[in-house]
Amino acid sequence: MSGSDQEKNEDFTIKVPFVDFNYVHQSIKEQVEQTFSSVYQGGKFILGEQTRRFEQEYADFTGAEFCVGVSSGLDALMLSLISLGIGKDDEVIVPSNTYIATALAVTHIGARPVFVEPDEDTFTIDPNRISDALTEKTKAIIPVHLFGRPAQMDSILEVAERQGLYVIEDNAQAQGACVRAKKTGSFGTVNATSFYPTKNLGALGDAGAITTNDSEVLRKLKMLRNYGSAKKGENHVIGFNKRLDELQAAVLSVKLKRLAEWNQMRARAAEFYREALSSNPMIVLPEKQLEDETHVYHQFVIRTNQRDKLRQTLAERGIETLVHYPIPPHLQKAYSFLGYGLGSFPIAEKLAVTSLSLPIYPGISHEQLRAVVREINSAFDD
Ligand SMILES: *Cc1c(COP(=O)(O)O)cnc(C)c1O
Repeated sequence: MSGSDQEKNEDFTIKVPFVDFNYVHQSIKEQVEQTFSSVYQGGKFILGEQTRRFEQEYADFTGAEFCVGVSSGLDALMLSLISLGIGKDDEVIVPSNTYIATALAVTHIGARPVFVEPDEDTFTIDPNRISDALTEKTKAIIPVHLFGRPAQMDSILEVAERQGLYVIEDNAQAQGACVRAKKTGSFGTVNATSFYPTKNLGALGDAGAITTNDSEVLRKLKMLRNYGSAKKGENHVIGFNKRLDELQAAVLSVKLKRLAEWNQMRARAAEFYREALSSNPMIVLPEKQLEDETHVYHQFVIRTNQRDKLRQTLAERGIETLVHYPIPPHLQKAYSFLGYGLGSFPIAEKLAVTSLSLPIYPGISHEQLRAVVREINSAFDD
């Protein structure tokens, strides 16, 4: 399809950054500037019209009844846990290969994160391993839809129901992903997400949100994010300042309308990588999502035993890659007090040394995708 002329004229100087939001930001520039201007003139910068509107739009988008905008993904996770009454001496199940924020939220509210290994081909928590990690103190499971692939929600919800546990989705990497047309962020009792700028739905700074169908939880969350206050001048609980800004809400409203389109662009890039890398015996591709699921490819993560060498070779040829994540939470210095060591979670440890994230973003060009594939396929030649 691409034609043999193109094959002959390959541009070996093409640079591929790991991530580039030029396309996205150019395509909404006027709308964002207009909305900034109206917030500026309106003079209301915290908990106003923009936040209320975005919360309604994001609730409608996920199919959850309510949404509460907050200041970051970590804050969304913390407030979610607190709103369910989880705290001191409780235990919460988290994947051993997640971004550390998932575990930090549990630690910050005084509970203990209990790591459960993922399925190494899907990168999401292995539901079959959850039962072994449960104790009298376990209160909740936080599945992470890592890299944009939905975790195995049917099995996770089944374990949770059987054991009387809450499910709190960490949907930071998967806005728009679905399981049987039901969006991630609508399965748990409360669900947290992050709008950090590089997420699929990203703000122009820190931002996050919580979705729920529970009106009592909603009431608590609204107080918790705003000094524990439901009525001006009255403080009902020991709250925080973890509110979403009007300016960020305004940008998120503009971007949400384009999210499905941008996620499709990511999916097409992922399909290209899949086809073009499928016959390379040196790499393992991420397992394809199930027939009735939508993967939103926050990251496209391949695995190889020669990860560091491949990463170096690609860097020399202008292809930028990243590692998600080089050190699993249980081996971080911050978590040394939990008493784990090398060998405690072998799957997470193996993923940390074999995983390599390829450039993927809306607007990545066909030439750039071809360059990545060409350099990967030739990297193992010598
Ligand atoms: C980004 C991320 C978070 C934290 O979000 P922030 O907005 O940076 O606080 C939490 N969990 C996962 C899986 C993430 O990728």
